[in-house]
Amino acid sequence: PVYLDGHATTPLAPEARAAMDPWWHQRAGNPNSPHRHGRFADAAVETARRQVAELIGAMPGEVYFTSGATEANNLALIGSVLAARAQGDTRTQLVVSAIEHKSVLNAAHALERQGITVATAPVTADGVINLERLSQMISKATLLVSVMAANNEIGALQPLAAIAEIVRASGSLLHVDAAQIVGKLPFDASVFDYVSLSSHKMYGPMGIGALYVSGAAAYRPQPILYGGDQEGGLRPGTMATPLVVGFGAAAALATTELHNDTRRTRALAERFEEALRERQVRFTRHGAATARLPGSVSVAFDGIDASELIAAVSDQISISEGSACQSGQITPSHVLRAIGLSDSLLRSTVRIYFGRYNSEDDAVLAAEAIAAAVAKLRLRTGDRLQ
Ligand code: PLP
Repeated sequence: PVYLDGHATTPLAPEARAAMDPWWHQRAGNPNSPHRHGRFADAAVETARRQVAELIGAMPGEVYFTSGATEANNLALIGSVLAARAQGDTRTQLVVSAIEHKSVLNAAHALERQGITVATAPVTADGVINLERLSQMISKATLLVSVMAANNEIGALQPLAAIAEIVRASGSLLHVDAAQIVGKLPFDASVFDYVSLSSHKMYGPMGIGALYVSGAAAYRPQPILYGGDQEGGLRPGTMATPLVVGFGAAAALATTELHNDTRRTRALAERFEEALRERQVRFTRHGAATARLPGSVSVAFDGIDASELIAAVSDQISISEGSACQSGQITPSHVLRAIGLSDSLLRSTVRIYFGRYNSEDDAVLAAEAIAAAVAKLRLRTGDRLQ
């Protein structure tokens, strides 16, 4: 089947894979070792740090490698609370949005057990954070605001410049989970305090990501793991050189391919919707037409059970319900709930992503497969309107 689930993970770029190759064996070495192999590995890690920094408009020294965006999100939230407390800062409130990834929401909930209060800002039907409500929630007690740049289920893009202005005026810290946007759209980290990145969402290897910590942030997070002094003591543990090198190569590639990718993947998503309409399939697309991650399509086929649809097309295409991290759970997506979908629309929503390695044929094939499956399923449920 054709892979169309790039929100969950993107295929490794061949260029990143080639860059990683020597670091597994021929050039193996711990970047902390003082011998020649160690020095080479260390130089490769620092090259990758520059490549990642360049992609997000940061200084290399502001990029700390982690195991992924989950760890970076935990480090930003928990680490900044620890740092603030250590400095005698008495602010105890976090503000998050209702559509954050579970790694932000659950880190925030864990902090609730330690005397932190969490306010959750609602979103509009398009999945955009309600700025009026957000500013009402932020007060002198707000230590940190955490919002995502692009949503992993519906692709909604957030008005980050406006959010940054609101948060800056309050003196609170601002963390942005940029896992879905970096490498897909231009992104400038330097206006934020903390930014989380994930390599496997931008055609790099799994198991590596980064936290950007602005040199101007009021607090550098405290570590949440204890060990050696790697990554300036912020994130101990032996650096995974091949993964870091692959992440760096993917970042360098994104720097040059970004505009091409954006144009192509946006056109593929449009072609897919057009092909559905050509086949007279009834559907509702979630999220705004323009403020959306290019290539991302969250779409409901009224009256159809999403899991049945996904199974029916699984020989031709791999698509998913809501978030991959949630699959297998019975609870419906908190994101689709937050945009106010009815239970029936929520159950009939699938998530599709057209990425760098997809073609127009893939977009048409997806529409064909879905059109055929929807027709069959609607017929079975006695709905002949289709
Ligand atoms: N944040 C967002 C918005 C995501 O989509 C994901 C991916 O599932 C994550 C965080 C977690 O990233 P990682 O898989 O690198 O831990």
